[in-house]
Amino acid sequence: MMYDVVIIGGGPAGLTAGIYTKRAMLKALLLEKTGVGGQIIVTDLVENFPGFQEISGADLAKKFEEHAQKFGLETKSMVEVSGIEDKGKTKLVKTSEGDIEAKAVIIATGTTPRKLGARGELDFIGRGVSYCATCDGFFFREKVVVVVGGGDSAITEAIFLTKMAKKVYVVHRRDKLRAEKINQEHAFANPKISFVWDSVVEEIAGKNVVEKVIIRNVKTNATSEIKTDGVFIYVGLIPNTAFANVKKDEWGFIIPNDKMETSVRGIFVAGDCRVTPLRQIATAVGDGAIAAVSAERYIEEISA
Ligand code: NAP
Repeated sequence: MMYDVVIIGGGPAGLTAGIYTKRAMLKALLLEKTGVGGQIIVTDLVENFPGFQEISGADLAKKFEEHAQKFGLETKSMVEVSGIEDKGKTKLVKTSEGDIEAKAVIIATGTTPRKLGARGELDFIGRGVSYCATCDGFFFREKVVVVVGGGDSAITEAIFLTKMAKKVYVVHRRDKLRAEKINQEHAFANPKISFVWDSVVEEIAGKNVVEKVIIRNVKTNATSEIKTDGVFIYVGLIPNTAFANVKKDEWGFIIPNDKMETSVRGIFVAGDCRVTPLRQIATAVGDGAIAAVSAERYIEEISA
């Protein structure tokens, strides 16, 4: 069966593209590697998506999903895409469930948390090392945790962790945070959070579970340790774009034009996996809308 549009990825960008393509009466299919929702599912609290002063990421994802369902978006979960073959007016989307034909494809696959690369990190995943405070924070009630990073993820999750942990250290490699000012203010005002500036985690150590991190001050080169039960790592994002044979930057983020067109005609991109100055739900949603309308116009063009 030939679809008009296959959307890869079911986060805010993909689901918005789904809403717009369905409202344009296109035959659209959304593919999702796990379940619909995307990264926001593991976001405790969203405070900057207009119209929702405070909503959990999971609740917002549910609303996006229900909204797309209302317009009859067909979705398939647990389908992994391994490539897109460009056959001109038809694209062959290669998936774990076989090939799917579409006139246009929208890539909205988002990002995956980056690993820190510290000694011991991989050995202690699930035994104190985590990339998701919403998933694992509960296990650290009245314990001490270390958060690594200085971006919005690190700071918002550090604040979230103070609800459970008795102490949260934020270890950051510089003496200034990258996070939004309002997030910084909240973190600085939180008595449970202590900042360890100009420092990198060299090693995560323990017997069976995490017991300490060894940090190095990058200005003095002095090493020291922090006794801790958990390490939450938020040191940036890797785009989920390996399968896509389109033009990308040196980190793998897809390079679009202002219509969300990629270097291959008929393949569009939306959301966090593209080169963009801002990765937010609000921007992902905007991208999804543009990509869907561009796909609609492209299909009209090739069908004329
Ligand atoms: P990010 O903004 O790329 O920040 C990554 C942080 O990790 C930076 O502070 C960086 O330090 C640090 N880092 C990178 N590599 C490191 C290493 N090897 N060792 C130690 N530290 C390292 O990533 P993010 O925080 O995941 O945010 C991603 C995007 O989502 C951003 O656009 C962010 O604004 C958005 N977001 C927004 C919210 C919100 O509430 N508004 C919440 C979550 C995410 P440097 O600062 O020195 O580079």
